[in-house]
Amino acid sequence: MPENILIAIAWPYANAEIHVGNITGSHLPGDIVARYHRLKGNKVLMVSGTDSHGTPVTIAADKEGKPVEDVYKRYHDTFLEVFQGYGITYDLFTSTHTENHFKVSQAIFLALKENGFMFTETSKQWYSPSAQKFLPDRYVEGTCYICGFEGARSDQCDNCGNVLEPEKLINPKAKTGDGALELRETEHFYLDLSKLEPEVKQFLRERADHMRDTVLGESLRKIEVEGLKPRPITRDLDWGIPVPVEGWTEAGKRIYVWFEAVIGYLSAAIEWSQLQGSSNNSALKKEAWREWWANPAARQFYFIGKDNIFFHTSLWPAQLMGAGEKFAEIFTEEKFPLSLPYDVPANQFMNLENNKISGSRNWAVWGRDALTRYDPDALRYYLTVNMPEMKDSDWDWAEFVARNNNELVANWGNLANRVLSFCYKHWDGHVPDVDPATLRPADLDLLAVIEGGFESVGALLDGVKLRAALGETLKLATAVNQYLDTHAPWKQVKEDKAEAAKTVYTALKAIDSLKVLFAPFLPFTSEKLHGFFGYETPLFGEGYIEEISDSLGTHKGLRYRSPSGAAGAVEGQLWKPSELKAGQKLNQPGPLFKKLEESVIEEERARLGK
Ligand SMILES: [Zn+2]
Repeated sequence: MPENILIAIAWPYANAEIHVGNITGSHLPGDIVARYHRLKGNKVLMVSGTDSHGTPVTIAADKEGKPVEDVYKRYHDTFLEVFQGYGITYDLFTSTHTENHFKVSQAIFLALKENGFMFTETSKQWYSPSAQKFLPDRYVEGTCYICGFEGARSDQCDNCGNVLEPEKLINPKAKTGDGALELRETEHFYLDLSKLEPEVKQFLRERADHMRDTVLGESLRKIEVEGLKPRPITRDLDWGIPVPVEGWTEAGKRIYVWFEAVIGYLSAAIEWSQLQGSSNNSALKKEAWREWWANPAARQFYFIGKDNIFFHTSLWPAQLMGAGEKFAEIFTEEKFPLSLPYDVPANQFMNLENNKISGSRNWAVWGRDALTRYDPDALRYYLTVNMPEMKDSDWDWAEFVARNNNELVANWGNLANRVLSFCYKHWDGHVPDVDPATLRPADLDLLAVIEGGFESVGALLDGVKLRAALGETLKLATAVNQYLDTHAPWKQVKEDKAEAAKTVYTALKAIDSLKVLFAPFLPFTSEKLHGFFGYETPLFGEGYIEEISDSLGTHKGLRYRSPSGAAGAVEGQLWKPSELKAGQKLNQPGPLFKKLEESVIEEERARLGK
C-alpha cells in the first residue's frame, strides 16, 4: 500500500530574496525527502507558499513606497525562479493572498471560536493620531526601558536582547511617518492556548521517539516550564485576512499573521486538489486533500528553521486540535478531525564564512545568483553535506570547492563517467552481454553491498537524517571504485575480454543502482545518467508555473507534473536495485559534474559584504 506523505515547508516572507541558508534550512531537505518517497511509490503532496501578509512585508512596501501587492508578487516571482532552478518539486507553491486561503483560515478561526477556545480582551497599543491608526509592534521604535538603547523595537530590544512590553517603551516613534504616538485601548481575539495545553503536551510526548532532540527541547520542555499562554490572533492592520466576525474588519482589524500563515499547509493542499479537480471536473479529485488531512495513517513532515519550531510543534497542533471536527463541518459539511504533524525536522542555521548571513549587508550567497555560476546539483550536494541538522553549520567557499572536486567529481562523477565511457567504447555502445549466472563471487558481493543501500539509505531518508544518508551513499560509490581498482578492467580488456565484460557489467549495474540512491540529492545529474543508460521513462517529473485566478486577482503557482502525469504523485516503484539488462543499448555518455578552479574561492569571497 502506498503511504500518504505530506511535505510541508515553511512559508517564506515576501520581503527578501532567498539565500542558501533558506534553501538548506527547509526547501532542500523537504525536496530530498519528497523525491525519496516518490521513488518509493508513495503518494507525496509537497506544499508551501509565499507569506504575503506579515508586517515585514508591509514595512518593505512602505520603504519602497509601493503597494504591498506589487512587492509581495515581485518576491514571489523570484521564489518560483529559485525553486525551479534548484529542482525543488512543489506540488503547489502558492501564496497566502488567495481567496481559498482566506476561506480556510476563516473556517479554522470560526471552528476554534465555536469550540470555546477564544475570548476577547482589551489592551493598550500605540496609536498614531496623524495617521489615524494603531501601529503594529514592529512599526514602533523608541528607547529601551531596560538598557537605554535608543533604537529598540517596541516588542524587542536588539541591544540587550530582551522581549519588551510595547506600552513601556520610552519616546516611542513611528518607524514610517511622523507625529506623536499615544496609547489607546484596543480589543482583540485571543486563542486560549492554556485550555489546549494538556493535548499539546500529549501530542509531543507521543512523538518523542522520532522528533529531534533539539526540536523537543524547544517545545515540550518549554511548555513544561512556562506553560501555554493565550495569544492574540487579531491585530490592528488593514492588510491581511478579514476577521469573520461582524464589525471587526470594518474596525480595521485583520487575522494575525502567525495564526493564518501555518494554516497555509492545509489551504495549499485544498487549493492543489481543487486545481486537480478543475482539470477534469472530477469531484473525487477535489476532495483529494483529505488523503493527507483526514487520514490518520498519513505522515506529515514539516521542514522549518529553528526560529519557527514553537509555531509548528505547539501552536499549529493546538489550532488543529482545537478546531477538531468543526473545521470540516464548516468547510465541507461533513465531520472529521484533521490529521496532525508526524514530525517537525527543524534545522538550525547556516552561517557564511564564520559570520551570520545578513541580507542587508549582502553577507549572503543568494539562491538565484549562485545558479548563474554553478550547477544546481553541485549546490545541492554542498548544501546537503553541510546541512545544519543538529547544530549551526558554515558555508565556506574553500570547502565548497574542495568537496565539489574531491567528492562529487573525483569519487562519484568520475566513477560513472569512466565506466560508461569505457563500456561505450569497447562494447560498441551496449551493456556487455553477460549471463548473470556466470558472475564471480566478488561481483556478487559488490552487488549485494550496493543492494543493501536501498535499506540503509532508505531508512536514513525516512528518518530525515539526510547528511548521514548522503554519506552512506558516497561510501557505496567508494566501494565500487575499490572494486574497479582491484579488477582493473582497463587492463583486463586487453588480456581477457570476457572477464573484463563481467567486471564492467557488474560496475554498470552498481552505478545504475547508485544513480537511484543519489537521485533524491542530485536529481539533475541522476536524470542525465539515467538517460546515458538508455532508459526511456525519466526518474522524475518536472515543475511548471500555472496562473491561477480567483476573486482576489491572479497569482502564480509552482506545480509538479509526475512522469506518468498522475497527480499526487506515484512515480513507479523505482527505489530498488538495478535490473539492468545485459546487452542494453546505451546513449553517448559525458561528464556529470564540473571541476572548479581554486580561483573561485577568492572571487566569491570578494563578493561578500559589498
Ligand atoms: Zn535594551
